[in-house]
Amino acid sequence: MPNFTALREDFPTLAREVRPGVPLTYLDSTATAQKPRAVLEAMDAFYRRHNANIHRGIHTLAEEATAAYEGAREKIAAFINAPEAAQVIFTRNTTESINLVAYTWARANLKAGDLIVLTEMEHHSNLVPWQMLAAERGVELAFIPVTAEGLLDMAAYARLLEREPKLVAFTHMSNVLGTINPAGEMIAAARAAGAITLLDAAQSVPHLPVDVQALEVDFLAFSAHKMLGPTGIGALYGRRDLLEAMPPFLGGGDMIKRVDLDGFRANDLPHKFEAGTPAIAEAVGFGAAVDYLRAVGMEAILAHEQELTAYALERLAAVPGVRIIGPRAEKRGGVIAFVLEGVHPHDVAQILDGEGVAVRAGHHCAQPLHLCFNLPATTRASFYLYNTRDDVERLVKALAKVKEIFG
Ligand code: PLP
Repeated sequence: MPNFTALREDFPTLAREVRPGVPLTYLDSTATAQKPRAVLEAMDAFYRRHNANIHRGIHTLAEEATAAYEGAREKIAAFINAPEAAQVIFTRNTTESINLVAYTWARANLKAGDLIVLTEMEHHSNLVPWQMLAAERGVELAFIPVTAEGLLDMAAYARLLEREPKLVAFTHMSNVLGTINPAGEMIAAARAAGAITLLDAAQSVPHLPVDVQALEVDFLAFSAHKMLGPTGIGALYGRRDLLEAMPPFLGGGDMIKRVDLDGFRANDLPHKFEAGTPAIAEAVGFGAAVDYLRAVGMEAILAHEQELTAYALERLAAVPGVRIIGPRAEKRGGVIAFVLEGVHPHDVAQILDGEGVAVRAGHHCAQPLHLCFNLPATTRASFYLYNTRDDVERLVKALAKVKEIFG
């Protein structure tokens, strides 16, 4: 088992104080993760030594930059066990990856009356692009309900599949409930019903082993910044035949093979979907983040976070007035959303910040899900590999302070 307490040393941010004498307790990794020195140094080294634009140059720096960028793609492809690196497209983030599918595959393949199945627990980024498509094309959206425990209603899902949806798009792990959905089983059922599948893996790829070939998923979207990498870069994995058949997304440099005044011929994968100068240093940082996660081990990271979450659930449940939403520990990853009776989540978060505890308050870009629980907002604590039981104790102690202030 890796030493999760010792690896905190790799993350400079974790050593800072929020204000003099108040150390940081970072419990907001679901929003974005802290970065290890290895990522910061890889990006710094790129800019210091190798900075050049990629693909187009034949000078040494351009070749080095291209190798670094394409090398990062290979690392990321291996991390999710993609059959080939060309099936991994760099985007800005999960949101852009999902929009890419909505604007290309979906607009080329779906027509009025076609059904898309989503769930009630989606982040807005896997909801709004489909609502936009529905408004434009008359495509119908249907939702797998969330049970009171915070799980997907599988019987309702089976009934929706009988209506032969064209696409089933859902989150692998909820960013509010922490629920880890049975993706393999759900994808197999969708495929048997003839649907294409898209997995929002923004919260799963950073926290648990994800194997696109074992899952047999058609599209998978995730963001570097939630998995120790920089902001500004994410990835879309896609099945080769689907990607090949899809029209390009954005037009411009690099995504073409040939252009004349009458038109253009699109480039091969993955470049067909990467118009313009991409986030090169960020790709290098993304690759370094994946190296770091691999070295620690995704099985070990998941086990650590689930053990910590089980402990936190127990400690928080013992705080009078706390109501936690979401399933029991075995069904979830390191996310805990809760409300404290009589105190608005924003007030909770503000007082916790005074104690150095960084949590998030609001609807966490999942407003429909909050409505399911009749809550306008929650406070959310989330864990990553660098969190320990000490962080949980600081959270519990800070909640006592909230109760003290609000009586
Ligand atoms: N999907 C889920 C489940 C998320 O948690 C998030 C971010 O919180 C996103 C999508 C969107 O990620 P990004 O903002 O990096 O595009």
